[in-house]
Amino acid sequence: MAILVCGGAGYIGSHTVRQLIAAGEEVIIADNLSTGHRAAINSAVKLYECDIRDKAALKKIFAEHEIEVVFHFAAHIEAGESVHLPLKYFNNNVYGMQVLLEAMTECGVDKIIFSSSAAVYGDPERIPVDELDKTEPTNPYGESKLIMEKMIRWVSAAQGVRYVSLRYFNAAGASEDASIGQDYHNPTHLITVTLQVPLGKRDHITIFGTDYPTPDGTCIRDYIHVVDLADAHVCALNYLRGGGESNFFNLGTGHGFSVKEIIDAAEKVVGREIKKEFGARRLGDPVQLIASSEKARKVLKWTPRFDDVERIIATAWQWHSLHPNGYEDK
Ligand code: UDP
Repeated sequence: MAILVCGGAGYIGSHTVRQLIAAGEEVIIADNLSTGHRAAINSAVKLYECDIRDKAALKKIFAEHEIEVVFHFAAHIEAGESVHLPLKYFNNNVYGMQVLLEAMTECGVDKIIFSSSAAVYGDPERIPVDELDKTEPTNPYGESKLIMEKMIRWVSAAQGVRYVSLRYFNAAGASEDASIGQDYHNPTHLITVTLQVPLGKRDHITIFGTDYPTPDGTCIRDYIHVVDLADAHVCALNYLRGGGESNFFNLGTGHGFSVKEIIDAAEKVVGREIKKEFGARRLGDPVQLIASSEKARKVLKWTPRFDDVERIIATAWQWHSLHPNGYEDK
């Protein structure tokens, strides 16, 4: 039986596909290549260029392959953009999930591993945040992920689909051999944007808000290496195969870094100063997000390998400096 990876040509999806293949799994990918890249996946892997909202296309895949489990990475992911374009997020993310679950249940596919997000928590009441803390998203992106989680839960209760929902904190870094990494047309994520300055692609990094109630006034996040996220998916697969009940888990390192600390760490990695400017807060940004991942460590037996933020940034830097134009250079 095979694994269908929706969004397998994207950033976290492609790292997970690689890990699954290394573990000896048969993988099929569905990706509309809106932000994913054909070059991010091994050419031996079957790629269906289709949209998650196209039920007929999904059902064709389920008819042509015996799919044991679906990994669902295919979604829009920019919190800041989602504040201005909420319907873009509800259409692709929420409606996309609706269609995927319809196709799965109509075709008898009963396991799903879902890419959720720390954004479901909004501004947490306490730090580190654990899975039972309140979920009150501060932006439509987080809301879409929370609705998607709820949809899976109701479908699970009614139709027996088992799921693992993985709430990623801030995904960062690239494969250690620098062959795959993040490549968005207009990147918005902090580490990628910061590294664009020493790459000569941007004049400066703007720090969004310096008046937050944190020690240096900038937002705090928990940056988790993309390979560690990929590992967690393999753990989740083994968990479901072992009969594990439907469940959801935080994935982070448990360490928080402010925006300023990340830029300082990036300066150390690249060995020079990075020009910065101070700007207004970005709408929808929670102040602080740091994970408690005890549950994933205990139940999924997941152990993140990268616990040093400079090492995480160094893998991103290696990828970007070797491929300044992303996959176009491959
Ligand atoms: N950020 C920033 N300047 C940028 C991009 C991001 O100051 O050019 C900040 C952003 O406001 C947030 C943190 O960096 O506090 C992480 O943002 P990112 O978009 O990387 O991830 P998010 O936490 O929104 O998923």
